[in-house]
Amino acid sequence: MSYAGGRHFLQIPGPTNVPDSVLRAMSAQTIDHRGPEFAELGRAVLDGVKPVFGTQGPVVIYPASGTGAWEAALVNTLSPGDRVLCFETGHFASLWQEMATALGLEVDFVPGDWRHGVSPEVVAERLEQDTGHTIKAVCVVHNETSTGVTSRVAEVRAAIDAAAHPALLLVDTISSLGSIDYRHDEWGVDVTVAGSQKGLMLPPGLSFNAISEKALNASRSARLPKSFWNWQPILAANERGFFPYTPATNLLYGLREALRLLNAEGLDAVFARHIRHGEATRAAVNGWGLEVLCADEREYSSSLTAIMVPEGHDADKIRAIILDRFDMSLGAGLGKLSGRVFRIGHLGSFNDLMLAGTLAGVQMGLTLAGVRIDPTGLNAALDRLQSL
Ligand SMILES: *Cc1c(COP(=O)(O)O)cnc(C)c1O
Repeated sequence: MSYAGGRHFLQIPGPTNVPDSVLRAMSAQTIDHRGPEFAELGRAVLDGVKPVFGTQGPVVIYPASGTGAWEAALVNTLSPGDRVLCFETGHFASLWQEMATALGLEVDFVPGDWRHGVSPEVVAERLEQDTGHTIKAVCVVHNETSTGVTSRVAEVRAAIDAAAHPALLLVDTISSLGSIDYRHDEWGVDVTVAGSQKGLMLPPGLSFNAISEKALNASRSARLPKSFWNWQPILAANERGFFPYTPATNLLYGLREALRLLNAEGLDAVFARHIRHGEATRAAVNGWGLEVLCADEREYSSSLTAIMVPEGHDADKIRAIILDRFDMSLGAGLGKLSGRVFRIGHLGSFNDLMLAGTLAGVQMGLTLAGVRIDPTGLNAALDRLQSL
């Protein structure tokens, strides 16, 4: 028998739990998107979002899912036949690579085992070999949501600089922005891609491109076809707080409130909270005697954890039991990890007791599914949470 009542636990790594105040902000009447009241909203969110990216430059906001912002990053900066360097860190990196190929780019895809991030050493090696500078962009997924592995973007930047290579650096931060420390300007990122429904605590429907000066210059000669995604008319309209098309007004109300929440807590405190929750989750996984998918402790993700299920068990069955018995959604194994891992999202609007409840549900579900675990594993997480 299942028990209803209380709140659903949405512990997939995006969409994440939307704070009540964000939902309330979004429930206001939609306004004239060409009127003066809108301009105020537009300017507030266009300026207000910059510190979250760690940039002083422009950030374009699209009424689209993150996938749209991937496309925008490519079509605004590159030309047909351009070479781009991509890394098989997991499902999302593979999808981005497929998109680049579909758009007519020439992709060098460095194979990976889905347990490691982008190797700065391999970046240096590939770029040093490219003496003719035919590689025009390096694409990196900061936080691989399919694996729970966070690539070291600052080290990738250093590798590009060490090779003295002019390639653009394009980074997907869809599941890290607003939950894991990120610095667009300081790390010399040229286009940062982000989405609304993960660390930013909003429903799906908005996505972002933070744009460096170098990317903006590249966009003036980039020849991939584009219209809706074209930065130029958007940036021109944004100067007065407007958009060249009907923006997602109510999501922008939500964004304004989400930015207020992030600022009230303080970005450093937000990042520290996510680090704690990542540590507590891994403490439980180790306590259960199970293994985290991420194989390099320098690359543990603070926004989600992918857990390998022992041979002979189906991760999707475990998730189904947990959904049925405890009304909690966990992330599925994606692509070639299907059935082999499940993922716990611990990002966005989330606190210690929500994590404790989440991990209790996972522990009970594993036991009900017949997975042999140490049932004191949860205590290790609680120990972590009760210390500061
Ligand atoms: C969620 C996600 C995407 C896809 O974003 P959509 O909003 O579903 O289009 C891409 N990359 C990463 C790293 C993600 O986490």
